[in-house]
This record gives sequence, structure tokens and C-alpha cells, in this order.
Amino acid sequence: MIILPKVRCPGCGKLMEAVKAQVVPPANVLEDCLRRCKKCNIGASNAKNPLKVKFIFPPPKP
Ligand SMILES: [Zn+2]
Repeated sequence: MIILPKVRCPGCGKLMEAVKAQVVPPANVLEDCLRRCKKCNIGASNAKNPLKVKFIFPPPKP
């Protein structure tokens, strides 16, 4: 079991919940992100090391 730790959302500053997963795919698009901010819809890439997490931002709303 892989645990992705909490990370702080760069949009609103809230913590995204930690996620447990059997398989952690590389996250290249928002849909692949296991951690997402419910408020901002910003996704954190699936890196286990918080220092290596990259954030994926949703496309701007029209
Ligand atoms: Zn947020």
C-alpha cells in the first residue's frame, strides 16, 4: 500500500487529504491526480515526497 501524504493546496492553503492507493500512476493530467482540492480543483501529482509534488491547475472557467 502506498500512502501519499497530505499536501497544502497552493490555491486556498488548505490541506488535501492523504490518500492510500495500491497503484500510483504518474499524474500528467488533473484526472490522474489522486489528491485534489475540492474547493479549487487543483490536483497534486502523485509523488510521495511532498517536495517533489507538482500541482496541476484546472483550465480557467470561461
Ligand atoms: Zn484549494
